[in-house]
Amino acid sequence: MEKQGKSGHLVLVTVPFQGHITPMLQLATILRSKGFSITVVHPELNSPNPSDHPEITFVSIPDQLTKSQLSDTDVASLTLILNRNCAAPLQHCINKILRSYGHIAAVVYDTLMFCAQTIADNLRLPGITLRTCSATTLLFFPVFPQLDEKDFISEIESPELQVLQLQRFRSLLSQSPTEATMETRVAFTKAVGRSSAIIVNSMEFLEQEALSKVKEYFPAPIFTIGPFHKLAPMVCSSLLAEDDKCISWLDKQSPKSVIYVSFGSIASIDRRELMETAWGLANSKEPFLWVVRPGLVRGSEWNELLPNGFRESVGERGCIVKWAPQKQVLAHVSVGGFWSHGGWNSTIESICEGLPMICKPFFGDQHVNSSYICKVWKIGLELHELERGNIEKTIKRLMVDVEGNEIRKRAMDLKEKAALSLIEGCSSICSLHDLTNQISSA
Ligand code: UDP
Repeated sequence: MEKQGKSGHLVLVTVPFQGHITPMLQLATILRSKGFSITVVHPELNSPNPSDHPEITFVSIPDQLTKSQLSDTDVASLTLILNRNCAAPLQHCINKILRSYGHIAAVVYDTLMFCAQTIADNLRLPGITLRTCSATTLLFFPVFPQLDEKDFISEIESPELQVLQLQRFRSLLSQSPTEATMETRVAFTKAVGRSSAIIVNSMEFLEQEALSKVKEYFPAPIFTIGPFHKLAPMVCSSLLAEDDKCISWLDKQSPKSVIYVSFGSIASIDRRELMETAWGLANSKEPFLWVVRPGLVRGSEWNELLPNGFRESVGERGCIVKWAPQKQVLAHVSVGGFWSHGGWNSTIESICEGLPMICKPFFGDQHVNSSYICKVWKIGLELHELERGNIEKTIKRLMVDVEGNEIRKRAMDLKEKAALSLIEGCSSICSLHDLTNQISSA
């Protein structure tokens, strides 16, 4: 075991999902650069590769989860199972780390792993929650336990938040919640309410109005220290092997000509939606790089259900991979647009490269992110239905039409603002200083 860092020792607790592991490992690297020594405690399933992070100690805890449970169980039930199965091993593990280092400066946990806050409370250690989605999603937390009793979101009057139509998301959330959903919501809310700090991979200017509302509802200070991947650019955290052949394909394309298409690590589509997406891409006549992840198409191993004649129709104009080095792809000169499911990591990564987007949200926070992208920041076009004519038209609007140029300009403005927030003395860097000061002085 390595010795304690000059700023202290931190225990970071993650959950086994790609979109959560990545920001947690990026945060680990950022905090490591601030003088903390770090132990990352993670469930056995989807373990990160320790050899990619020699400066971090990794400890896995038994989770009794199977790969099929990960894809077949709804998020709320999975979160409950994870917390139930991991609570005792996590407690044991943190006790052991405490004995070994003599002191733990804080337990930083993914909001989904709320049992870590109880463990931290019992040991009188500061618990810090990392929300890997937008800060705005925290606004739903205070209403979770009493969704039907208190019309809290209608109290929000800021113009930006009204454009987001949080009311609509609230009604989506309150539609016949299961017991697991209710239990998870109560647990989330209690944990975040007791945490001594909240960290988000966001930037002050992106969610200013929501951030000031969040501050009214939670006592803990909120630290927006994103974009994480620009502060920790070398972090390698893909659970699937990245296929680099798409980079040599991109090298052969014209500047800003390619639309990159990825629906992230969890969303899935059916056979009909695959057909529509394939023909929409083919008929647009624009070059595309498409991530067809194993499991993306329900009931299929990989891309064997692609329609007859599709490959012949697109020829060299299309490239399909199982998993792409996304950050490298987004930064490539040939990429001119990103058709995304609107996952928060993808959103932040896209903003940092100034790319205009097409959003087809599937579930959860992707709807809120998509509204930010298309209605608040106005850097994208929303795609409501996976229908070939609609897809073809939307791709052309973004990649060819004058409308796309306007969207691109706004996306480039956001890119500049994102870069500015990482300059010494600017918002994210100041927030990071404040966070490290708070941890060290606790
Ligand atoms: N990603 C990747 N290669 C791909 C597709 C996605 O590396 O082919 C990464 C992407 O860069 C992002 C993460 O996977 O960091 C997806 O997280 P996000 O929050 O966007 O969506 P989720 O997978 O959680 O739905």
